[in-house]
Amino acid sequence: MPRIENEETRRAQIVSAMRRMEARGLNRGTTGNVSVRHEKGMLITPSGITAEHLTADQIVFLDERQARAADALAPSSEWQMHAALLAARPDVNAVVHCHSRFATILACAGKPIPPLHYMVGVAGRPDIPLAPYATFGSAALAANIAATLQTGFACLMANHGQIVAAPGLSRALMIAEEVEEQAAVYWGTLAIGGPNILSDADMADNFRQFSQYGQKR
Ligand code: 13P
Ligand code: ZN
Repeated sequence: MPRIENEETRRAQIVSAMRRMEARGLNRGTTGNVSVRHEKGMLITPSGITAEHLTADQIVFLDERQARAADALAPSSEWQMHAALLAARPDVNAVVHCHSRFATILACAGKPIPPLHYMVGVAGRPDIPLAPYATFGSAALAANIAATLQTGFACLMANHGQIVAAPGLSRALMIAEEVEEQAAVYWGTLAIGGPNILSDADMADNFRQFSQYGQKR
């Protein structure tokens, strides 16, 4: 039976997602943000509050006109990036952004992740692309991310970090963790002569295997 999630559940899930990213070293301090589609708008983390201090009642609801309640905190400075992805991708219900170390190293070096391992495909395409740079919190950054993520679930953000847009929040977190792992693997191969890249045919085979992988009932 599909579980109907209410607003309180979603708020609690967003807080746990921020805590998990911090616990796993994907974020630190006030970096990173999380949103979940809710009614015609979204629930999003407030700006500038550490995961440690974040509580469910601080999560901000932005309606479809991006308006919030008079007593709500200021939403994440990246709300436009979250809103743009939720608007452009009906298949996406959760967005996770973090400054995980190896993804950020590659993003600062201008290096998208090529198909060097089958798990690069976890983001739904053979590579993990790199969105062009724009100032954090800007409409230009939101447009760059939406343009880069027309397909697939994850991209690097030039000179900034990574972002994942996925059907659900737990899947988005899992993808963000794997993007970080693949970024670390790519970084490691660059130190010893560079990766052997898988062919398009190899990646097509991997996507076929993915479709049969795991428990099917
Ligand atoms: P917020 O605290 O406003 O969400 O900003 C953190 C961040 O990572 C900006 O890119
Ligand atoms: Zn950021």
